[in-house]
Amino acid sequence: MTRTTPPRPLDPEALFPGIEAHRRTCTRLHPRPGTPTVAESSVGGPLLWPAGEPWPVCTAPHRKGRGYLLADVRAGDGARRGKHAPWIADEDPVPLLAAAQLYARDVPDLPAGPDGCDLLQVLWCPFEAHGPDRTVEVVLRWRRAADVVDPLPGDGLPAPEVVGREACVPRPCVLDPERIVEYEYADLLPRKLRKAVHAWEDSQTGREEAWAEGEPDYRDFASYEEYQAAAAAYPEQPEILSYWHHLSIAPGWKVGGYASWHLTDPARVDCGSCGTPMRPLLTVDAGEWDGITTWVPHEDRESIGVPGAATPTGVHLGRDEMRVFTCPANPAHPHRLSFQ
Ligand SMILES: [Zn+2]
Ligand SMILES: [Zn+2]
Repeated sequence: MTRTTPPRPLDPEALFPGIEAHRRTCTRLHPRPGTPTVAESSVGGPLLWPAGEPWPVCTAPHRKGRGYLLADVRAGDGARRGKHAPWIADEDPVPLLAAAQLYARDVPDLPAGPDGCDLLQVLWCPFEAHGPDRTVEVVLRWRRAADVVDPLPGDGLPAPEVVGREACVPRPCVLDPERIVEYEYADLLPRKLRKAVHAWEDSQTGREEAWAEGEPDYRDFASYEEYQAAAAAYPEQPEILSYWHHLSIAPGWKVGGYASWHLTDPARVDCGSCGTPMRPLLTVDAGEWDGITTWVPHEDRESIGVPGAATPTGVHLGRDEMRVFTCPANPAHPHRLSFQ
């Protein structure tokens, strides 16, 4: 199935001349529940893993036996928190959780991997116990898919027995990647463009206020019937648009594009090895859409109100999003995480 994001309700390049210098493509992954194989790009699916290669483990000291049984989380019928594996010591190595794998052929915005690698695999430790912000720990593995001649069976991959939280475990999803255009987060645009965006947003707010001001008030009418008639004749609220919500940055899991800084001020994310400003490689979002529905693909519009439709992966890291940033100068330089 293909998924198609509707065009933006207004064209940002017509609205804000010069903004075309601050556009970037991204690939929306559009994860949806399914049964992916090792040969497919997926979220929460099995990884194409060479039988002879050790599976990455978490060796950081933290509680690893208390939480939720992965088998219960995957069964989806009420996992219960408890001390399920008291024999696992804090220092014991535990297998990381397979979170996603992306074949370059499916994801046009996947940056070139090192040494001709064409498959990116994402694993994480499903305990929010790492680093000063106590988050999951992410491991990226690049490989050449053609090199894997003897893969482990997809249903026999290592996995942790216990996870810290259910929302750290992606449900198996197939992907329908779609390339779209995004525009830089407003506060990171050059001053002139930023002012143009804010002035336009003020005009939108003005329309909303003017509409609310003219709305019939029952206290102004002699009878309820007269008020009702006036209210019925009053025009519908005009659609109020915002740059961030409707024009600039898409919600949901994606590769490439821009990072949104809606919960904090924008932060620099520079490579720890060479100082180059890093780019968001992968955005892990709690929802594929929220109250703003202009980004919902045509194919999903009938599912907008269906419970769970907007949260196919079940993953919720940070308050909304986890972004994995990588170095555009050298894909082998260590990645950095950022949360919103
Ligand atoms: Zn860990
Ligand atoms: Zn670097």
